Amino acid sequence: MSSTPALVFEGVSKSYGATQAARDLDLSVLPGEMVTLIGPSGCGKSTALRLIAGLERPDAGRILVAGEEVAGPRRFVNPEKRRVGLVFQDHALFPHLTVTRNVQFGLHGLPRAERAARAAEVLELVRLGHLAGRYPHELSGGEQQRVALARALAPRPAVVLLDEPFSSLDENLRAQVRAEVVGVLRETGTTAIFVTHDQTEALSIGDRVVVMQGGRIEQADTPYRVFEQPATRFVASFMGDADFLRAHVHKALLTCEIGVVSTVPGWASADVDVDVVLRPHEVAITPEPGRNGDGPEVVDMEYHGAFVLHTVRLASGQTVRSWQPHSVRHPVGTPVRVSVVAGVTPTLLVGDHAVTAPPGTAS
Ligand code: ADP
Repeated sequence: MSSTPALVFEGVSKSYGATQAARDLDLSVLPGEMVTLIGPSGCGKSTALRLIAGLERPDAGRILVAGEEVAGPRRFVNPEKRRVGLVFQDHALFPHLTVTRNVQFGLHGLPRAERAARAAEVLELVRLGHLAGRYPHELSGGEQQRVALARALAPRPAVVLLDEPFSSLDENLRAQVRAEVVGVLRETGTTAIFVTHDQTEALSIGDRVVVMQGGRIEQADTPYRVFEQPATRFVASFMGDADFLRAHVHKALLTCEIGVVSTVPGWASADVDVDVVLRPHEVAITPEPGRNGDGPEVVDMEYHGAFVLHTVRLASGQTVRSWQPHSVRHPVGTPVRVSVVAGVTPTLLVGDHAVTAPPGTAS
């Protein structure tokens, strides 16, 4: 397999009037990689896709698809000439064309026989060969989405862009269609950029997760790192639940309101204030019946089925959350002791950025 990246962004920026929708984006995507793009509404996800597809021109920077510059200061390749496939949320199939005709639509450059053969091939790939003669309204939502995928794959694009492709499907169907679509993309070694607003989806299907905010990439990393080693306060709070407590590192010991949290190797000579990021699965609680005085107390208990989310108010008034197994239910008002689950090395923040070494030293 070629090692030329399937997609490269080099310092790409795009503004709409005073709104900077993409700010100095840098990203390189390997062939066959599946990248998920996530962030709050308005953070620039669609703008990034539109720039790749050629529906927008960057104000600055360059975009390369499979090694070819498709947008730059002196070059702009039109959308239909780019090796980019698109799958939208609403399928965008032509209602008056059969499934086969819809798939053939993107292949107009080819001789008729080749077009038919390629359409048949990709319809088999998405397991819809038997429905080739139907019209879109005769298909379920999931089948329509697979036709849209087949149409996008037919011209053998270097990159497929999927813009919230499952969000119009109902909950039950979504997991199944997602598994099918991801399966086909994996099977064909297709490079894919998925826009999603669903954290679980971003983490579970991405080889890499790109978290955006305010037109910037906050972090582009493996799902594990994005969740376990968030680079910024924003990523920590956006990807999964997180509580932030004021803390202090002194002689390699991290302490906060709940006591000693952990040791911080390499911080032996540090004496600094930080914020510690605690995720609900990292927080342990033990009931302390009959405890006197003010201390941590359960203020909310939410039953989620397999797990029960407990919210605990600390003496300072700050709250932390703790996941407990489904059989553990401490009612509101229960006095508890709060600690951090053994073995956890929580993320530390100075200001809005995660730090792995004491401030002022090289990390
Ligand atoms: P997302 O897809 O993450 O919701 P978008 O890329 O659609 O975000 O938008 C990023 C920002 O750019 C938003 O502030 C949005 O209002 C603005 N924007 C997007 N498209 C246009 C446009 N055609 N004209 C003006 N502003 C736009």
